[in-house]
Amino acid sequence: MKVRVAVNGYGTIGKRVADAVRLQPDMELIGVSKTSPNYEAWSAVKKGIKLYVPESEAERFKQAGIPIAGTLEELFKQVDVIVDATPNGVGAEYKPKYVELKKKAIFQGGEKAEVAEVSFSALCNYDEALNKNYARVVSCNTTGMLRILCTINSKVASIVKARGVVIRRAADPKEVKRGPINSIVLDSVNVPSHHAKDVQTVFKGLDIITTAVVVPTTLMHVHSMNITLSSNVKREQVIDALKNTPRIVMVQSKKAGITSTAEAIEFVRDLGRYRNDMPEVLVFEDSVYVNGNELFLIYAVHQESIVVPENIDAIRAVMGLASAEESIKITNATLQIMKGSLIE
Ligand code: NAD
Repeated sequence: MKVRVAVNGYGTIGKRVADAVRLQPDMELIGVSKTSPNYEAWSAVKKGIKLYVPESEAERFKQAGIPIAGTLEELFKQVDVIVDATPNGVGAEYKPKYVELKKKAIFQGGEKAEVAEVSFSALCNYDEALNKNYARVVSCNTTGMLRILCTINSKVASIVKARGVVIRRAADPKEVKRGPINSIVLDSVNVPSHHAKDVQTVFKGLDIITTAVVVPTTLMHVHSMNITLSSNVKREQVIDALKNTPRIVMVQSKKAGITSTAEAIEFVRDLGRYRNDMPEVLVFEDSVYVNGNELFLIYAVHQESIVVPENIDAIRAVMGLASAEESIKITNATLQIMKGSLIE
């Protein structure tokens, strides 16, 4: 029996999670929801994905000529688990409905941590989400940070403290109304930025402080991270650990000619990767610098796709379908996720 999945909110994240669910051998996508009859609704129809809408919106979809399979409630009732990818804060409004219908749900990073029983990052705390009813996949920046921090902490040396600067993309490529246009804006006027607090929802007790600025780009985020470790380490140890961890890829900038997010995305476009996505964290290998017990590194995070594998693993965890190792293996294979070096 496959696990029946609904995706509520068919936007940047919802579309990608829906596609990923369709690739899983142990999952079936029953349908997705939309509130507005726009091009994204059409794309679901054209891909043969069943579309469900709020009862109040059914007439608008009918007027637009978009076929619908039923109402949101009808969708929710048919499934075992709902991936809620609605905009920030909207997931919390849906939670009472999920509770009423006794459905498990996966929320996204735009929700407050309290919406779920556990904040989730597959490489860090998969087991904590096993058989839970509500899990929250942390945001794109937090997912990127946690992949790096948990890997270093478990494979290199325990972390004494981490200090990071988040250089955040202003908007996703489709978000025509968002800025900034010609400015670098403080993401958070106060220090630490919320990213550090979000990391602590998974990596509990970690001494981490982040600052963040928003820059006028849509491609990727970049983090500059400085980690103090409990013992002196060698650069090779760090590179070896990162190269041997799934969902992290390294690029030698000088060798590959990739010193920017633009070139990184161009490379995955050249490879013909699905949607030009890069769900791996991309570590700029030349930036890895070790000074005794201090580690510095710079890496890029593709905000639109990095949380997709984590959503798939979160489904398996709450459904108790597989161990962390098994789930990560299946997800990586089905989504063709890279590890090691981006180029040889
Ligand atoms: P989005 O705006 O691209 O998509 C949201 C979708 O939900 C849209 O299709 C919208 O029509 C639909 N929607 C709006 N109100 C709804 C409602 N009441 N009921 C059902 N559907 C509704 O947003 P997104 O970027 O995909 O973000 C979704 C969540 O994922 C947020 O929590 C966000 O913080 C998180 N997230 C986003 C990114 C990113 O870079 N875009 C990365 C990681 C996590």
